[in-house]
Amino acid sequence: MDAYYPDSYEDSRARFTRDADLLRAKWPDSRLGKYRLKNFPDLSIDWLWAHPRKKENLVVISTAEHGIEGYVGAAMLRLFMDEFAPRLNVENTGLLLIHAINPWGMQNRYRVNPNSVDLNRNFVLGGNYNPEINPDYDLLQDFLNPQRPVRSVNEEAFPFLVKVIKNMINPGRARVQAASLLGQHRHENGIYFGGKAAQEETSVLMDLYRKALSEYQNFIQIDMHTGYGPRYQMTVLVSPLDDIPSTQASQRFNYPLVQKIDAQEFYAISGDMAEYVYRLRDAEFPGRQVFAGGFEFGTYGDSLPALIKSLRITILENQLRHHGTAGNKAEKQIRAEYEELFFPKETRWREKALTDGRQAFAGILHAYELI
Ligand SMILES: [Zn+2]
Repeated sequence: MDAYYPDSYEDSRARFTRDADLLRAKWPDSRLGKYRLKNFPDLSIDWLWAHPRKKENLVVISTAEHGIEGYVGAAMLRLFMDEFAPRLNVENTGLLLIHAINPWGMQNRYRVNPNSVDLNRNFVLGGNYNPEINPDYDLLQDFLNPQRPVRSVNEEAFPFLVKVIKNMINPGRARVQAASLLGQHRHENGIYFGGKAAQEETSVLMDLYRKALSEYQNFIQIDMHTGYGPRYQMTVLVSPLDDIPSTQASQRFNYPLVQKIDAQEFYAISGDMAEYVYRLRDAEFPGRQVFAGGFEFGTYGDSLPALIKSLRITILENQLRHHGTAGNKAEKQIRAEYEELFFPKETRWREKALTDGRQAFAGILHAYELI
């Protein structure tokens, strides 16, 4: 089972390249592509295009948009390449497999890219990174983004709790959650910073999506994430721009937990990558069919204490990255908790993640009559 989950970005990339070679026997018209990061030329976004004889359906699997989440993403990519790619019809179905949208984040085990940008808040069609969105975020600035080095984890605990309670009362849980997760384009060292311009990683992906939609009639994407939702039940995420209601999607995909990425069911996101694909389709390729969804593997759980715990570690990790800490011990503790939030070690968790991924791949590919 552990063979699915890589230990390092480099191992994962090498394995992807090898596995991609094996698929060439089935798709003779296939080639690997690569984009090296400008400031980190050892790190690259890698992808495989595998074209069928007739370009009707394209299955897109993408990983590590949030770098550290790419370890579970790599496991799912391997599962797909091993068990599902061989079952697709090479006559009319192609592949675009993307290893590590955010290779720097994956290597260094952060969600964000080298500019501290959350790439899943950076996919803005038309390039208007509006600083006005999410005004509530400013009310929470002191709480979300303390502008000082981290003290010890114990010393941080009580003041954090006081601030959580205060903010849960006013402006209230719903607004705190919405404002912290929506994304924002003003505070460069704040959590969920969506950037002030398209990042290089984002631009690479935008070009791939434009090519995909220009060539294929049906576009089916699954993008891999971890961190939110129940601990032992992966959530299939559906964009609010998709017409299908989540209850209907659940039946169609034969999968128990499907949610829309909006404030009612999951949480709202501005600059979301899947949303970008739908908007690009609407703007430039109106005849194309699109399903751009995601797998989200919950880790801490979805109870209120779990949400508070994950917000706490998100704030501490960001504070640590921008302001450092006086003590090594705090850094170690924060890094360990952060790792557990996005890449749990527990065997039971990792096995269930594979089981859920297998079920959801089968359900979605079957629903679109690809297997
Ligand atoms: Zn994510």
